[in-house]
Amino acid sequence: MNSLRTVAVIGGGISGLSTAFALQERAAAAGIPIHCTVIDAAPEWGGKIVTHRVGDLVTEAGPDSFLSQKSAGIELCAKLGLTDQLINTNETSKRASVYSRGRLHELPEGLVVITPNQLGPFLRSGLLSWTGLARMGMDLAVPVKRSREDESLASFFRRRVGRQAFDRMLEPLMAGIYAGNAEQMSVQATFPRFVELEQQYGSVIRGMMASRKEAPPTSHSGPKRTMFISLKNGLSDLVAALVRRLTEQGVTLKGHCTVDALRVRSHQLGRWRYDVILHDGSALSVDSLVLATPAYVSAELVRPLTPIAGGLLELIPYASTATIAMAYPRAAVSGVAEGFGFIVPRAEGRDLIAATWTSLKWPHRAPPDQLLVRCYVGGVGREAILQLDDKALVARVREELASICGVTAEPGYVEVNRWMKAMPQYTLGHLDRLNQIEAALSRYGGLVLTGAGYRGVGIPDCIRDGALAAERVVRYLSGERA
Ligand SMILES: Cc1cc2nc3c(=O)[nH]c(=O)nc-3n(C[C@H](O)[C@H](O)[C@H](O)COP(=O)(O)OP(=O)(O)OC[C@H]3O[C@@H](n4cnc5c(N)ncnc54)[C@H](O)[C@@H]3O)c2cc1C
Repeated sequence: MNSLRTVAVIGGGISGLSTAFALQERAAAAGIPIHCTVIDAAPEWGGKIVTHRVGDLVTEAGPDSFLSQKSAGIELCAKLGLTDQLINTNETSKRASVYSRGRLHELPEGLVVITPNQLGPFLRSGLLSWTGLARMGMDLAVPVKRSREDESLASFFRRRVGRQAFDRMLEPLMAGIYAGNAEQMSVQATFPRFVELEQQYGSVIRGMMASRKEAPPTSHSGPKRTMFISLKNGLSDLVAALVRRLTEQGVTLKGHCTVDALRVRSHQLGRWRYDVILHDGSALSVDSLVLATPAYVSAELVRPLTPIAGGLLELIPYASTATIAMAYPRAAVSGVAEGFGFIVPRAEGRDLIAATWTSLKWPHRAPPDQLLVRCYVGGVGREAILQLDDKALVARVREELASICGVTAEPGYVEVNRWMKAMPQYTLGHLDRLNQIEAALSRYGGLVLTGAGYRGVGIPDCIRDGALAAERVVRYLSGERA
């Protein structure tokens, strides 16, 4: 008969919670009795997922939505009974803009999909000049880079579609997601699909057109989803549902409890035991461990076991950002705020990375007489603004809104959320470093890393990676080496 095995998951953000959820599911399927403990330093669960409900306003301090195309998010919501809470973006005003050379240029929806049949809207937007567009089209003829060496996001796209299309259009969309600098980001680690398209079709544009044709017809069984989706009352509902389900399943949730260190307690016949040392000096002894903490925290935890993995984990940089939510009387901004918001290319040298007209994008987030906006600042090379105190930061953001889109009204509600060392940066060589980290950790059976720092920063990526981490733990516990 299988004896009870113990697992600790350190970190109760979406990665750690979804790892614990998948662990329960997979261990039960494999017939392995486990007891799982999730430990988080913060008093609240969910890590970067933080919804605030203030009167009739629903603000998201961190993520406000997730990609529907990556199925892990929708599937987890379904398992937790949240499907009827999923909401699409507002169908009636689905436009976004790019700020370039002194004005906003409207973009077609789903811009990331650059295909020639969308050139009309680009032309009308005036975002790209004729020469910029012609250079973009040269992607069809530019030779394929045969070297397997990693390449920066900036170098890859400037080589394929030219400087103008990249700097004015793709950089704010792509680098903005990571609050990163495209000159330093690895294309292989952030947008590997484009590298595959280049290799397979000889051109990104040709590849996208071909993969559209080859894509299986979309299933009509489920409801239609927009590119980004969210939960009606905020993403914290996903965290609350996970916490509820884990509690029902007998998982121990230890909040407000920092893990200070890890130790190997014993190692016999391929079977390991670890001590998780908690801040109060007590130790939790377990058979398997999942570290779902930011890479720089995991670095310190594994360093005494493997200085190599510790050193490599520390090399994953994190950017700091802030989100500023402001609610305006609707009448004061009518005619100014339209569509979903705008993004600002780094080349413009402004403080704002992006602004979302939150309650136009998600109508449930503010009462009809108010407009909720969310501004995003900071990121690699633009972090100086975070040294301002809240009052000065808000004043600076309001100056930006006034000069970019003419919003000069006084907001009735303001909220500043600072995210220090929050956005992992997948810089050049990231995937090689991950392989080396995995190799260095591989001798420690049942010790697994997951989280936004490694294989995707988006919520669905974290959920999928958490499920893979759970899979590895269950395989290890069932006797196979992870
Ligand atoms: C401002 C912002 C906007 C974003 N927008 C989006 C978006 O719209 N869509 C999207 O998909 N993604 C978005 N992201 C990315 C996404 O939110 C994150 O990548 C994801 O939530 C990270 O989850 P995680 O569990 O890996 O890490 P975290 O949420 O950081 O969780 C790690 C946990 O570890 C705990 N911890 C740390 N040290 C210790 C310790 N020593 N002992 C115990 N516990 C510890 C922390 O308290 C924390 O709860 C955004 C991120 C930010 C910051």
